Amino acid sequence: MKIIIQRYNPETDRVPYDELFEIDDAQIQHDTMLLEVLLMLRENDSTLAFRSSCQEGVCGSDGMNVNGKNHLSCITPVSSLTQPITIRPLPGLPIIRDLIIDLNLFYQQYQSVKPYLQSEPLDSEHEHLQTPEQRAQLDGSYECILCACCSTSCPSFWWNPDQFAGPAALLAAQRFVIDSRDIKHIDRLQELDSPTKTFRCRHIQNCTDACPKGLNPSRAIQELKSIMVKELP
Ligand code: SF4
Ligand code: SF4
Repeated sequence: MKIIIQRYNPETDRVPYDELFEIDDAQIQHDTMLLEVLLMLRENDSTLAFRSSCQEGVCGSDGMNVNGKNHLSCITPVSSLTQPITIRPLPGLPIIRDLIIDLNLFYQQYQSVKPYLQSEPLDSEHEHLQTPEQRAQLDGSYECILCACCSTSCPSFWWNPDQFAGPAALLAAQRFVIDSRDIKHIDRLQELDSPTKTFRCRHIQNCTDACPKGLNPSRAIQELKSIMVKELP
C-alpha cells in the first residue's frame, strides 16, 4: 500500500512537501482504519506528527484531509480509499507540524457563540424541565465532537476565519437558540445577526458532506437565519 503524506517541520522546512510511505499489504485487514496505518508508520518514523486520542470517533482529534475530503482517520477504513492514499492536514488553518493544525481560530469562533445554557438560576429543589418534544428538537444539534472537519471544508471559513463563525460554531449557536430552557434567545439572535458572522454562509453544503457524525450544519444555519428573519425587527 502506498501512502503520500504532507510533511512540514517549521524548524527545518521552508514549505510543506509530500513524502511517500509504503506498507506491506499483509499488515492490512479489511477493517483496518487509517489511524492504525498512521500509527504503524510512526513506529518506523517517530517524527511523523498527527493528533489522535480515543480511536473511536468520539474525541474528534484526528481530523485530516484524505484524498481531498476531510475525515476522522480512526473511523475511515483504508479499504474504502483509492490508492495511493494522499493525506494532508485539514485545510484553511495554519500548520503547526505535518498533520497538526492550529485550531485556535476554530475554538475562538466556537466560544464566541456562548455554547452553554443561559437559564434562570436554579435552587436545589428544582430542575430545568423540558417536554420530550422540546428535548427531541435538540437531536442532530448537540452531538458535535468539534473535530473541525466541517469548518475546514467551508470556503467561507477559509477566506474569513476571523469573521465568519463557521459551521461548527453556528451549529452550536442554533442548538442553544432552539433550547426551550435558554433565556437569552433574543440576545443570541441579535449577536448572530451579522452579514459576516452568520450570513456569509452560502449553503454550498461542504460542511454537511464532511461531517463524520452525520450532522447537518448547513441545515442548522438555514434554520438559524429563518428564526432571525422571523423574530428580529
Ligand atoms: S453550507 Fe455554509 S457553512 Fe456549510 S460549507 Fe457551505 S458556506 Fe460553509
Ligand atoms: S458538526 Fe460534524 S464535522 Fe463539524 S465539528 Fe461537529 S462533528 Fe465535526
